[in-house]
Amino acid sequence: MERKMTPQELIGCFDEALEKGYILVYYQPQINHSTGRMVGAEALMRFKHPEFGIQYPNDFIPVMEENGLILRADLNVFEQVCKFQKKCIDSGVAPVPVSTNMSRYDILDDTYVDKLEEIRKKYDLPVKFLRVEITESSAIAGMELMTNAIDKLHKYGYIVEMDDFGSGYSSLNVLKDLEVDIIKLDMRFLSGDVGGRGGTIISSVVQMSKWLQTPVIAEGVETNAQADYMKSIGCNYIQGYLYSKPVPEDEFVEKLKKLDHQPETPATKFVDTQDAGRFWDPESIETLIFSEFVGPASIFTYTNGHASILRVNQKYAKEVCGGAKIQDILNTNPWDHMSETGRLEYETAIKKAIETGEEVECDSWRDIHSDCCGDDRICVRTNMRVIGKAGEQYLFYVMARNVTAEKKRFDDFRSADQLLRVAFDHANMFAWEYIFATKEMHPCFRCMRELSLPPVIRNYPEPVFENGLFPMDYHDMYIDWLNELANGAPSKEGIIPLTAGRVPFHVRYTTEYDENGKPLKAYGSATLVVE
Ligand code: C2E
Ligand code: CA
Ligand code: CA
Repeated sequence: MERKMTPQELIGCFDEALEKGYILVYYQPQINHSTGRMVGAEALMRFKHPEFGIQYPNDFIPVMEENGLILRADLNVFEQVCKFQKKCIDSGVAPVPVSTNMSRYDILDDTYVDKLEEIRKKYDLPVKFLRVEITESSAIAGMELMTNAIDKLHKYGYIVEMDDFGSGYSSLNVLKDLEVDIIKLDMRFLSGDVGGRGGTIISSVVQMSKWLQTPVIAEGVETNAQADYMKSIGCNYIQGYLYSKPVPEDEFVEKLKKLDHQPETPATKFVDTQDAGRFWDPESIETLIFSEFVGPASIFTYTNGHASILRVNQKYAKEVCGGAKIQDILNTNPWDHMSETGRLEYETAIKKAIETGEEVECDSWRDIHSDCCGDDRICVRTNMRVIGKAGEQYLFYVMARNVTAEKKRFDDFRSADQLLRVAFDHANMFAWEYIFATKEMHPCFRCMRELSLPPVIRNYPEPVFENGLFPMDYHDMYIDWLNELANGAPSKEGIIPLTAGRVPFHVRYTTEYDENGKPLKAYGSATLVVE
């Protein structure tokens, strides 16, 4: 009866499986979408039990990993691949490089790569027909183990692929520190609309990979739209159901015979990246300047109307993006925060910088959202300069400054009479402070005198709800205000009818933050609304 095997059954028949060949290798082609040629294939393990039928990796790999069986299984797959490649060569079928998967448990064994090498030698197979995939989640085992494995593979001449890039463990640093030759980007991790957020991540990874001069293979590509999208951002190599599911050996041989494939190594050639490269080097002066000595700074690429942020420093995140996480900044489309006119001005500046090769200054208003300070509009003054070029793609270095206060001061100056009115209002108001951490309200003397409030009100606003200062129908709204302020909203205001007489007051709050941008307290005021 065909069914999913239990872990016990799998473990129980493992030795028998190796001996009797229950472990099979399926091959999934990798295609150059532009030429239709096969550029390689991935070997994927299948487990075919005589009674229970085909078992799938997602079910049996974890069992093998947890029970220390994966190493032997992976070596078995590698050996089958070597045997297969050799057979192809000997029978006159032109092979393509085949990659095998190296489990993160294999990485723990520092003789694993030597074992691969022994097998390869046994079959006398040129190393160019073999590649090794290491999943980025192996970083859990420790970067040193991973680096050692990669170094050793390189020493023997293997091409190393970073599998499952984008699944969550990778950061720019992981990628930068590991000398992988090919990045595999799984579209299923980033599925949804490729034009939206997923698309932004994908395109920035692809762009990033270009600056690192590392080609990308897109995996899990199921539709032509996805493949075309990848092509449009410069990634031609595709592995996915669109071209073929993983197929058994005999079917794969047929594909090899039929498909037009010329040995073609995925490669991206980039010109003019000499300066850009240094920005990825953690030791370089550029990086030091970028992260330590300058004000807010960012690096972005611009390609025919598309901009994508590749790097920002901490000061940029804090001053220009309202304290947003760097990862989130890298994942957003910079145009999203600009108005149509703002964007046009910005692009004009970009084009001028491209044409002149000089530094160009531009002020642009942006809408930002931050978890601590809510939504806001800020004006950013940028000084940008082209620092690299690759085909149609330009790499920019940007210094930015938040000039909102300066701009606002100018606006305020223009409305001096409005200012006078504000001053007048303030003279006629009740004022208090509300401390978020303790939920204490400290009223001003006037509040105490005219509203008979004590100097400190604890558990605010409960007591003023109870004494009827706030009408019932405003309780929920007022609680919401205080919560929003405590969560970082910079201000709140509205008309609230106060006391039993429902006298309309203009109530406002302004938040004060500590040096880390965390809300400390809010200054409240209530001014009588005079018709
Ligand atoms: P993986 O290394 O990321 O392999 C790619 C997986 O995506 C394969 O699943 C493949 O069949 C599937 N796939 C490829 N294109 C598409 C597509 O267009 N749509 C969809 N829905 N799926 C697609 P598979 O063969 O089930 O393998 C699952 C995972 O098991 C592999 O993920 C790999 O992590 C692991 N695995 C497979 N074979 C081996 C092996 O020999 N050794 C080790 N250690 N792990 C293996
Ligand atoms: Ca893989
Ligand atoms: Ca993968």
